[in-house]
Amino acid sequence: MKLLRHVANLGYGSRREVKALFREGRITDAAGRPLDEDARVPHAEVRLDGEPLDPAPGVVLMMHKPVGTTCSTRDAGRLVYGLLPPRFRLRTPALSSVGRLDRDTSGLLLFTDDGTLLHRIISPRAHVPKVYEATLAEDLRGDEGALFASGTLVLESEDSPLAPAGLEVLGPRRARLTVTEGRYHQVRRMFAATGNRVVTLHRSAVGALPLDPALGPGEWRVLAPEEIARVF
Ligand code: URA
Repeated sequence: MKLLRHVANLGYGSRREVKALFREGRITDAAGRPLDEDARVPHAEVRLDGEPLDPAPGVVLMMHKPVGTTCSTRDAGRLVYGLLPPRFRLRTPALSSVGRLDRDTSGLLLFTDDGTLLHRIISPRAHVPKVYEATLAEDLRGDEGALFASGTLVLESEDSPLAPAGLEVLGPRRARLTVTEGRYHQVRRMFAATGNRVVTLHRSAVGALPLDPALGPGEWRVLAPEEIARVF
């Protein structure tokens, strides 16, 4: 792809605006030599004002989603996309969250612009485990683990039973739950089906990829290929 289109697709501006960046000599190679807008230069060798470009298409980001942010424009609250640089919202192909977390859920949220990868992760057939840590309003009864593992639990207003899920009791009102599906409000509804209520919910891992403890709420970073491979 010609450089002009590549840079514009990364959200640095309209074609006209990016043409101006070339004209002003602000887009260069790593040695500082101005590049032509029609050039076909490897992404990693391009600089804008001396800085490497944003990640090339095919990127996956990990965010520590804070409580109170939403993944959908239909919900009230601050959008998770607002925590990314504004330029990231102008990228082609677009970056989207890999599945959704509720507004009141914190933890590991992935973003990608790779549609194939996105569907590989969220497809129910992929059975990618998602690990949640929940604090509960009431003490656990003791039979939740067997019920969730049974593959017979049918959530209210649904017809098909949930796939077996794993429960690890962390305390009288604390549990770690591993689910392979992504049904609407699934974890909250699972505990509601046992007469309990989720007070806080945090996603700690997707597949074998844990949330990076160095990321505080609202922080994000680009994943390395070997980290992406840990999701499956
Ligand atoms: N289950 C829920 O209930 N909420 C989430 O955000 C994720 C899983």
